[in-house]
Amino acid sequence: MHPLIKKVLVTEEEIISRSKELGKEIKKDYENEGAPLLVALLRGSVPFLAELIKHIDMDIQYDFMDVSSYEGTESLGDIRILKDLDTSVKGLNILLVEDIVDTGQTLRTVKNLLMSKGAKSVKVVTLLDKPSRRVVDVQAEYIGFEIENEFVVGFGLDFNQLYRNLPYVGVLKDECYK
Ligand code: 5GP
Repeated sequence: MHPLIKKVLVTEEEIISRSKELGKEIKKDYENEGAPLLVALLRGSVPFLAELIKHIDMDIQYDFMDVSSYEGTESLGDIRILKDLDTSVKGLNILLVEDIVDTGQTLRTVKNLLMSKGAKSVKVVTLLDKPSRRVVDVQAEYIGFEIENEFVVGFGLDFNQLYRNLPYVGVLKDECYK
């Protein structure tokens, strides 16, 4: 275990096993309408995307978007697109891949954006969900793990761009925030 990690909340084995279940569920749900385009939000969702796609037994494609909140306007859910999709979403079923749903603002804004660009449907798969932090009414259709209101790192999630490569989700020691 990394020396700065206080506790592990979700192990690598648990993430792999849950990704297998989610992959099966996703395949079943999209079997009739056809494989969705997976849209992953950079950078946190990359490890989860890489694990999940191994377990979706369909001919899927994926693309990336990078968004950030405008300074000072976070409460409005106003976001800036740093990298847009290379693929047109018009008429497509989209499955948004997230690392964590916290307040829900990013999710709601990106969902609305994709619908306004003509997506046929937008569903969400997230590795982690912090329902107690929600300020807007959005819900992911597929959730890996529900967690308490704690700041977590690992499996894509960072603190100052570090710890994304940890193969588990954990909480940093208090000294890291001093
Ligand atoms: P939301 O718009 O739902 O408030 O924010 C979602 C984004 O906030 C996530 O994609 C992630 O980048 C960041 N975030 C929220 N909670 C955590 C956390 O516990 N750890 C880390 N590293 N990032 C978080």
